[in-house]
Amino acid sequence: MDVLVVGGGPAGRALASACALIGLKTAVVDPHPDRPWRATYGAWLDELPEGAPVAVATSRSRVWAVREHRIARGYAVLDNEGLRALPPEVRVVRGTVVARTATAVRLADGRVVKARRVVDAGGNAGGGAATRTPRAAQHAVGVVVPRGGFLVGDEALVMDWRKPPDAGMPDPSFLYVVPVSEDEVLVEETSLARRPGLPLAELRRRLRSRLAARGVAVPKDEERVRIPLDIRPRWDAFGAAGGLVHPATGYSVAAALRLAPRVARALAEGESVESVLWPGRARAVHALRMFGLEALLRMRPDEVPEFFDHFFQLPENQQRTFLGDRSDLRGTTLAMAHLFRSAPWSLRARLAFPLQRAKGVRTPG
Ligand SMILES: Cc1cc2nc3c(=O)[nH]c(=O)nc-3n(C[C@H](O)[C@H](O)[C@H](O)COP(=O)(O)OP(=O)(O)OC[C@H]3O[C@@H](n4cnc5c(N)ncnc54)[C@H](O)[C@@H]3O)c2cc1C
Repeated sequence: MDVLVVGGGPAGRALASACALIGLKTAVVDPHPDRPWRATYGAWLDELPEGAPVAVATSRSRVWAVREHRIARGYAVLDNEGLRALPPEVRVVRGTVVARTATAVRLADGRVVKARRVVDAGGNAGGGAATRTPRAAQHAVGVVVPRGGFLVGDEALVMDWRKPPDAGMPDPSFLYVVPVSEDEVLVEETSLARRPGLPLAELRRRLRSRLAARGVAVPKDEERVRIPLDIRPRWDAFGAAGGLVHPATGYSVAAALRLAPRVARALAEGESVESVLWPGRARAVHALRMFGLEALLRMRPDEVPEFFDHFFQLPENQQRTFLGDRSDLRGTTLAMAHLFRSAPWSLRARLAFPLQRAKGVRTPG
């Protein structure tokens, strides 16, 4: 065996497929390799690599912050069956890894599987190393409902910060609406970042109040989202386990799909996963994004929509860079500087504060 991937989520499967494609003998180990995924994965269309399995795509997007922003970027909802598909050459091992070295894993049932390289793509459901401070997390509750008037034509409503009719806590949350088929949409009440995550019961109450205001019946099935944001990246791992989650947006799937072929090549050539995922610029960009997260966590509830009003007035290339480009340090710095200059003084104080305590923030460097 050349490569053993621990974890058969979107990242692990993308990496295993990429390894098999270049002729590496590859296996994936996962406790439930056949269990269907309940998550609805979305991404900006232009961040996905060519050939990514897209279920539904829009050609533009919209944000409501303090006012409406129309964004000339398409948005995609991924096709889970396509994401799950593995080439027949990939061996699937059912099991839970309980111990791991660079070249072997031990499973809970005592079996040992060896490979030239072992890569951890086991996700970050536990939120990384145990710590006494609660994790910052993105939480959301979503349901699929008839399209109704939630979207205007061929678009995704990436964020709508207008307040829900009923909220029991002051923390801000937004509505995310994406088409999942021709006549249905996923509507998700989302708390972008909070330490600890906003209780799901509160998000459920807000979502239901929005649906009730539109006379939409609440379906029984719901999607529950919990994404740890302030995780410590691990250099020998991939996907969420390897720190690919954007600390200020919670996204990681598009980055994993884009990077999988490069990581596979590195493995084939005997190089480290770290050399592909974490060159100096990517570490610096990650540190800046962590500052962005800390700034968000410190904003007053009414400042958050105001912040996004400024963010979505940035030149589009700067928005793109901050949201998606992992290694454009200059572009990320320019976007943050531009945002700082355009913000009112009250917001500038929040944006600057994390920078003043830069030494105290844990970064991957
Ligand atoms: C409901 C939900 C919706 C999300 N929506 C989006 C989105 O729209 N866009 C986006 O970019 N991100 C989204 N995310 C965040 C993030 O991208 C996902 O968490 C994504 O699943 C991460 O992929 P991954 O393959 O790295 O990890 P995971 O999907 O967590 O996969 C890890 C796999 O490893 C297995 N595993 C864990 N431990 C072991 C072990 N010891 N031995 C063997 N196998 C193990 C698990 O069973 C699992 O199958 C969402 C997250 C959730 C929870």
